Amino acid sequence: MCEENFWDCTPRGAKRYRQSLYLHLVFSMASEGVTNLGIDKFFEKNSELHSGWLRSLHSIAERSFEEQETSNFIYSILKEQCPSLKVTRGLNDELPTAVLAVHTPRDPTLSPILLRADMDGLPIRGTDGTPSPLHPDVHHACGHDGHVTCLLTCAHWIHNFRDLTHRKVVLFFQPAEERGVAAIGGSGARIAVERGELLDTLHSDVEAVYALHSWPGLEVGHFGVGAGPMMGSSSKFVIEFAGHGGHAAMTSEEGGDALLAACTMVTCAQAVIARGTDAFIPAAVAFTSVENVDSHALGAIPSQVRVCGTFRTLDTQTKESILKQLRRHAAGAATMHGCQGNVLFTDGYPVTRNSSDGALVAQFAALRAVGGDESKVHSVGVEEGMLKPILCSEDFSILLKKRAGAYVWLGNGSGGPRLHESSYRFDERAVPFGGKLFVHLATSPATVGKNPNRAEFGIA
Ligand SMILES: [Zn+2]
Repeated sequence: MCEENFWDCTPRGAKRYRQSLYLHLVFSMASEGVTNLGIDKFFEKNSELHSGWLRSLHSIAERSFEEQETSNFIYSILKEQCPSLKVTRGLNDELPTAVLAVHTPRDPTLSPILLRADMDGLPIRGTDGTPSPLHPDVHHACGHDGHVTCLLTCAHWIHNFRDLTHRKVVLFFQPAEERGVAAIGGSGARIAVERGELLDTLHSDVEAVYALHSWPGLEVGHFGVGAGPMMGSSSKFVIEFAGHGGHAAMTSEEGGDALLAACTMVTCAQAVIARGTDAFIPAAVAFTSVENVDSHALGAIPSQVRVCGTFRTLDTQTKESILKQLRRHAAGAATMHGCQGNVLFTDGYPVTRNSSDGALVAQFAALRAVGGDESKVHSVGVEEGMLKPILCSEDFSILLKKRAGAYVWLGNGSGGPRLHESSYRFDERAVPFGGKLFVHLATSPATVGKNPNRAEFGIA
């Protein structure tokens, strides 16, 4: 036991703790009438309706910042099916398609939370057999149509069982997750957080934030969640080499071949991961483009060549180390070939890091969503037997930097296409699991604690 004789840190102690808290939760929730059975029945009864919402959202996929039809659809469902929730459109002038639905209980005995669903598609022509008649070149290749559906089903449940939801719940339908924080216009989460309306003024009382993402490779009906990093930070770099250029057949002992410098950079910088970072710490460096800036003549050496790429890490120290090494390799490649080298760097999304208490609360909600079957709720972490964090990035990380909370992976089946593939599609069978996860987060008496290493399981 390592903290007030409360939290036994050994695996056996942690399991015992989880089991006793789970039983505690089951009995306390049952006494309030919020039984798994009741929730299961609601989702069973409404499954066709909810699947229809998913199909409709899939057919109107829209790009980041252009989610007008999607916003209309969300708003109309909330108005028709969830009239007890306060529904508003547009968070500010930069996010006019955002939709917020707020449940305010008569007896707010539990701390307020925010549940988020991202709503944008990708500029990819879908090959899943159901092209969008409105926007054939846009496709929900990341399953955001499913995330929206899951959150709508949660709103639907909250409205129907509003007397059983004893906390303020903010349901945030967020535009523009796919855009990337460094892109013009930024990302939906960045704008929502930096402009301040979401968590500083309108809903400053929110204590924890939660979101889910459909996850290929994990069976439908399974979840993945852990404390600490779930997804990597993303950083982009552009390295420009400037040389002399000139006739391809002419040589010079001073060098000045920018293309040669660029190619040296791409090859030698592979050592950054192979030899320059801790083998036990996940990180990736990828060059994604080599571009002749000023010449496309086959008989001429370009005087300016640009190489671009991205790198991903799970911690700031590794990120800074990689940047330092890329600068060193660029300077070396430039010197070797008699050129000038210049590194431009832009920061993307930060690491998506679950707080310890938020992860624990989410773990319990997931456990309840699968009827208490522990084999279906997988821990995410670096230890053996756990699902491993991945180096893709996600703008929910920006909300998790403001508040405690958790980002949860929702199984979408294994063996199929991966995220961002043109044939990827959110599996309809996953809708009730995602919806139930949100419902259990909304109704759970568990809250994030003052000590970020544990959740508090007070009973309302
Ligand atoms: Zn996504």
